[in-house]
Amino acid sequence: MKIGIIGLGLIGGSILKKLAGFGHELYAVTRNSETLRHVKTLVKSCSDKYEILSDCEVVFVCTPIGKIIETLDKLEGIVSENCTVTDVASVKEFVTKKKYSFKFIPSHPMAGTENSGYNASFPELFEGAKWVLTPYDENDTKILTDLIEQMGAIPIVANPKEHDEAVALISHLPMYISQCLYSVAKDNKLAMKLASSGFRDTTRLAMTDLTLACDMLNFNGKNVEKSQNAFISELENLKKENYLEKITEISQSRRKMYNFDGKNII
Ligand code: NAP
Repeated sequence: MKIGIIGLGLIGGSILKKLAGFGHELYAVTRNSETLRHVKTLVKSCSDKYEILSDCEVVFVCTPIGKIIETLDKLEGIVSENCTVTDVASVKEFVTKKKYSFKFIPSHPMAGTENSGYNASFPELFEGAKWVLTPYDENDTKILTDLIEQMGAIPIVANPKEHDEAVALISHLPMYISQCLYSVAKDNKLAMKLASSGFRDTTRLAMTDLTLACDMLNFNGKNVEKSQNAFISELENLKKENYLEKITEISQSRRKMYNFDGKNII
């Protein structure tokens, strides 16, 4: 299949590295001359020009959230109306406002790390991860779901508004909490000396790429604020309520939710 990828950072680079293993004809658009040199052996063609994507059957738009609309607009008149285009932005409602001449299916892979750029990308990133699709018209999703499954991910269809509310709770809020948690402890020298796996795990997201961190707030601010308020009130309640009773309930509920098989915790 002829597949285009725009923006070879953590997500775009990982898509490229994974799909290269399946014999697809890959076309990569990158503005970075060093990345261009790295991907030459993996692709049929790479350039900083969108025109190389003209024959693609599927295109992945992997630019920062704030550049997604601009990138989609640039594809107009370049790819054919039969081409399926998806973006991978972590927020979905804002991309569903426009109709395009190509088949546009917004999506969001629920996989990532605190690192960014091509050098941070790796082909196993999507292994076992959910990959949300938020189609808002009649476009057939099969061509995309087949590729998502080929990358080892699990396609899930959701409504864009509900997606944005949900990711505020499980992805964007945890990032802000992680930043605050680090911030309240960082000036205590002994605390920093003693900090171990628990603190490392709960503050990992404080290292989230700054563009992504700001975009989450800029593009999903309403839902982030709602989830922040819910979190603050939960924290306040913890002080007021019978603490043991409350944490027993939380702990039991959390343990019941998933099968802890060591690998796929969530
Ligand atoms: P990233 O590593 O910074 O990659 C983004 C790439 O977009 C850059 O490497 C660059 O590629 C290109 N780019 C950067 N600035 C640009 C600009 N001003 N105009 C056009 N292209 C630009 O970020 P990422 O983590 O892969 O995120 C990319 C998308 O994936 C975002 O929409 C994000 O919401 C989504 N996402 C991220 C995660 C995560 O955890 N990181 C998870 C799921 C989805 P070139 O240098 O090749 O041009």
